[in-house]
Amino acid sequence: MAKWVYNFGDGKADGRAEMKNLLGGKGANLAEMASIGLPVPPGFTLTTEVCTHFYQNDCNYPKELTQQVEEALALVQTRTGRVFGDSTNPLLVSVRSGARASMPGMMDTVLNLGLNDQTVEALAKKSGDRRFAFDSYRRFVQMYSDVVLGIEINHFEKHLERAKEKRGVKQDCELLPEDLEKLVKSYKAVVQLELGEEFPEDPNAQLWGAIGAVFNSWMNQRAKTYRQLHDIPEWWGTAVNVQAMVFGNMGNDCATGVAFTRDPSTGTNEFYGEFLVNAQGEDVVAGIRTPQELTIKARKSHGSELPSLEEVMPSIFKELLSVRSQLEAHYKDMQDIEFTIQQGKLYMLQTRNGKRTAPAALQIAVDMAKEGLISKSQALMSLKPDLIDQLLHPTLDPKAKKEVIAKGLPASPGAAGGKVVFSADEAVRRSKDGDKVILVRIETSPDDIHGLHAAEGVLTTRGGMTSHAAVVARGMGRPCVAGAGGITVDYTAAKLTVGSVTVSEGQILTIDGSTGEVMVGEVPTVPPQLSGSFGIIMEWADEARDMKVRANAETPADARQAKEFGAEGIGLVRTEHMFFEGQRIVAMRQMILATDENDRRQALEKLLVMQREDITELFKIMDGMPVTVRLLDPPLHEFIPHTEAEMASVAKAAGVPLDRVRRRAAELQEANPMLGHRGCRLAITYPEICEMQARAIFEAAAEVGRTSKKLPVAEVMVPLVATTEELKLLKGVIEKTADAVKKEQGITFTYKVGTMIELPRAALQAGKLAEMAEFFSFGTNDLTQTTYGLSRDDAGSFLPEYKAKGIVEQDPFVSLDPDGVGELITMAVQRGRSTRPDMKMGICGEHGGDPASIEICERIGLDYVSCSPFRVPVARLAAAQSALKTQGEKAKQSSTKATKPRVQNFGPW
Ligand code: ADP
Ligand code: MG
Ligand code: MG
Repeated sequence: MAKWVYNFGDGKADGRAEMKNLLGGKGANLAEMASIGLPVPPGFTLTTEVCTHFYQNDCNYPKELTQQVEEALALVQTRTGRVFGDSTNPLLVSVRSGARASMPGMMDTVLNLGLNDQTVEALAKKSGDRRFAFDSYRRFVQMYSDVVLGIEINHFEKHLERAKEKRGVKQDCELLPEDLEKLVKSYKAVVQLELGEEFPEDPNAQLWGAIGAVFNSWMNQRAKTYRQLHDIPEWWGTAVNVQAMVFGNMGNDCATGVAFTRDPSTGTNEFYGEFLVNAQGEDVVAGIRTPQELTIKARKSHGSELPSLEEVMPSIFKELLSVRSQLEAHYKDMQDIEFTIQQGKLYMLQTRNGKRTAPAALQIAVDMAKEGLISKSQALMSLKPDLIDQLLHPTLDPKAKKEVIAKGLPASPGAAGGKVVFSADEAVRRSKDGDKVILVRIETSPDDIHGLHAAEGVLTTRGGMTSHAAVVARGMGRPCVAGAGGITVDYTAAKLTVGSVTVSEGQILTIDGSTGEVMVGEVPTVPPQLSGSFGIIMEWADEARDMKVRANAETPADARQAKEFGAEGIGLVRTEHMFFEGQRIVAMRQMILATDENDRRQALEKLLVMQREDITELFKIMDGMPVTVRLLDPPLHEFIPHTEAEMASVAKAAGVPLDRVRRRAAELQEANPMLGHRGCRLAITYPEICEMQARAIFEAAAEVGRTSKKLPVAEVMVPLVATTEELKLLKGVIEKTADAVKKEQGITFTYKVGTMIELPRAALQAGKLAEMAEFFSFGTNDLTQTTYGLSRDDAGSFLPEYKAKGIVEQDPFVSLDPDGVGELITMAVQRGRSTRPDMKMGICGEHGGDPASIEICERIGLDYVSCSPFRVPVARLAAAQSALKTQGEKAKQSSTKATKPRVQNFGPW
């Protein structure tokens, strides 16, 4: 019989942590915690397969489910010694959702289920505490009505506010039992009024109502949006957890809290969390009262006046500390936990791998490896390469003037400035118009997710480090300042005020998520200071990887940046990019528009000087590391002047009539520039261009060779080669120029001539090309265009639909297509190496910085990847991970190979 329900409790569980697909993250970890002996209230999990079945069968459950739930509930009754719906000793449960991936706040939980007018009396009598019993009851009626019956929560909150006013108290927990009793009555009246039906009193009806609500919520709009943003497939489904209640609201020896086993913001190995005395469930996250710190140290450093858990419940605190180390030792990762203390006894309600900032992720990986909890390789494998990218984001310029108007909690690091908006929708609208926006809210809820995503940064005036805004912003890598209580937000007037300062919608605000500061106007930022753990991770990555990482760079600034980030050479100098600016473009146009060789040579003279200077600078900066200079490649249209003024300035520079320039410009228009007169075709028709460029490179090499200690490594690269004849002709020009320069300068230098492989024909001809080419560089942008027959500039109009329809999984211009383009590269590498075994091969282009593409390069056996300077650290880590992964696979293969014969040898005979 199919098993739809899994039990946990009493040190035992049917499930394990690895069964997240079936039990959801929460259910799998509850099972795991129970089986390693942590104090988990008993319960059971309805699997994600129930959810799948539910949606495949018109919202009907599998027929065995009722019985399996009844049996599981009976087991919980035995384990707790209580009975569901009993009028003397009632069992109460929570009904909790839990998908494979954590979807914070997406699905709602119902607590205290099983209460009705009878069981509440029993609970009051048994606990000897009417306040507690009715506090639980009013919470239940409200939650159930909200989550299951779909009644707006405002209806209830009004009554709660009124009750507090009447009693003259501020906090929920100060209400008297009779207030709470009345509150339950008014809540139920609301239900009657809104639904025209009584609130369900039958615990069984309540249970199935709640289970159905969880399954139904898998398809609510909030959940759908979250899934879209996080690439979570719809077919995963959610599990439902039913668990015996424990109570943090039974008095002052009770509490509820959330914690991270290490600081999620910095990664420091310090226990970090918040709790509330005499409270239940999500009170901490919802920010109904100011939460208290766990440790004395945190209390002091945050200047909190309320005592810490370490002070008010020292023995529980100690127990929690030991749970903390037990969990880390078990999961080998930082955990995010939920706990509840009921009358001096600790219960664990949840654990999962904690979300953390990029700096924290690195710190934790490094620390855990140093503590011996994980190996260096595990530390490297634990980091998503894109985290590194977040680290490289700017922070506020320390020297900049800033007018701090308020301060909140430093909830998610990084600095961001932008126009203030007060709603998620407005954030989306303005960011679509190209504005940078800062989303300002009193607090955020799951309904604001799209706004958080669209904003550069988030500012809230209420809530702590574990509030919704803080958690979500950290996950998305957005800077966030939370709980800036000094700021008053007025949604209707669309403005915020602090003292005498008013900031209206559309005005600029800067926030610093690392300090919690809020400033008016745009404050300048500086590039990030990379911390010690960044350096350590990079060092470990360099030890582990076998591919080299180079950068694509033309300007000295880019080259310096790339070197600072650890680039081991320049894999691509796009020489045409050196001619886009100022007067340079005029000379370039003059060259392109020249009608005869003489005019062309005149323009080339000018370009030679600039080119030589630029390349000299690059050789100097790279200091003995290889620099691959690509000959001019642009489709001509990128340089043809379009305006009269542009043509006039070319005419002037060339000393020719404007009319001639006009005519020539018209002649050079192409129907299909990407496949037109570009790349080596330019140099074939105008060999003097190739000659000039080779001269610039070699004169630079000669000069740097004379003056620097380390000899430059010059690699001259021919673009868009399709035939060996093209390469042969140009290699001839290049060699002749090199010989000439050597003679003129009376100095020798070494260089290589290589080719780009960016056309299918070149890939096919790789064996022959390798007779002449001394290196290959795969230009995967063009190779993708020509393999697919797909123009990168035009693909945007239909690729999104291809993705939506599942025809392509990934944009092939972002992530290398392993089957088509990858095959061509594999083949070219094999053919090239069979001709010239020691040939260096790498890729340049966007794919060089994409982790998935880097893994493909590792598998193909390329020598290096080349990417933009800011991606270099990402590529170093991704290359290390690819190497570790493939080594791991090889080791596995050889070990299975090794054991196979042994099995045969020691067979039954
Ligand atoms: P979420 O996925 O939003 O975190 P949870 O299912 O974890 O939702 O529950 C919401 C809150 O209710 C949490 O604070 C959790 O600790 C608390 N809670 C859930 N089940 C129980 C229970 N059986 N006893 C006491 N508190 C519970
Ligand atoms: Mg929730
Ligand atoms: Mg939770």
